[in-house]
Amino acid sequence: MSTPWHVLGAGSLGTLWATRLARAGLPVRLIVRDSTRLRSYEAAGGLTLVENGQASTQAVPAETADHPAPIRRLLVACKAYDAESAVARIAPRLAVDAELILLQNGLGSQDAVAAQVPHARCISASSTEGAFRDGDWRVVFAGHGFTWLGDAANPLAPIWLDDLQAANIPHEWTADILTRLWRKLALNCAINPLTVLHDCRNGGLTEHHCEVATLCGELAELLERCGQPAAADNLQAEVERVIQATAANYSSMYQDVANQRRTEISYLLGHACKVAERHQVNLPHLQQLQQRLVGHLRSLGLPSD
Ligand code: NAP
Repeated sequence: MSTPWHVLGAGSLGTLWATRLARAGLPVRLIVRDSTRLRSYEAAGGLTLVENGQASTQAVPAETADHPAPIRRLLVACKAYDAESAVARIAPRLAVDAELILLQNGLGSQDAVAAQVPHARCISASSTEGAFRDGDWRVVFAGHGFTWLGDAANPLAPIWLDDLQAANIPHEWTADILTRLWRKLALNCAINPLTVLHDCRNGGLTEHHCEVATLCGELAELLERCGQPAAADNLQAEVERVIQATAANYSSMYQDVANQRRTEISYLLGHACKVAERHQVNLPHLQQLQQRLVGHLRSLGLPSD
């Protein structure tokens, strides 16, 4: 029998992965927050994925972190701010050859997780797939996309990429995962905070062209200075392309704030500002953007970290 996929966090991306792996006949186990959530899941009878308007349910077995079985393959599908503590709870169960796949957006959480599990292999992912919860244990597959996977410390591709192939999860192994993560972080920093502060869809930023261009300049400088020149390449042109292509959409940060949910600011704009400080790069507009966003979140009573 092939190695089971343990999925930590049965939210949008966790469900999107777990249901596709289970549908392909691969062994999957969900790890939910606590026994209350476990009872709720068992009452629901499985995870439901809605794809092209069709709902299908997979009765993926579930457990809590306290379950005794060892874990060799762990997909970490929590938010960036939950990943470190969630993995710390599960760390005693990890086998010596355990591999973790980290789906978190932004940067910072991957290193924090790796520090919790120094003997495990940590593989980072950057995904353009989109999914959202429209009920408990029920997720809508909203945007087909692609997932890049890589391990900055070891270019050898893992054998379980075959499982992703079997599950029809579009993916590619890359030696440049850090460049991908930094590029996505920079796009996010140039777009998402401004959509919150200007209370607009992505397309609304065409009216703030100069502000966007100034931020892109500072972000490109940061990327160059922290050893990621490839992530800086034509950044402004791509930001403008994304703004046009997603003009009708609300950014993920906008949606988090509108739904009074905690944002991942510390792993996006917050991380960029922290790295700028570490490298002693003066980026006044980026820092001012961070201060404005933190002030805005606080004024709404939302966490600013
Ligand atoms: P989400 O829907 O909020 O799901 C997170 C899940 O983690 C929740 O089900 C939560 O449990 C669970 N969780 C938190 N702490 C846990 C713990 N200690 N033990 C077990 N489960 C725990 O988040 P998401 O949208 O899937 O996002 C996950 C990551 O993927 C984020 O970094 C996000 O930026 C990134 N991402 C998301 C998308 C997307 O389209 N959704 C696309 C690209 C990247 P409860 O259900 O009990 O709250």
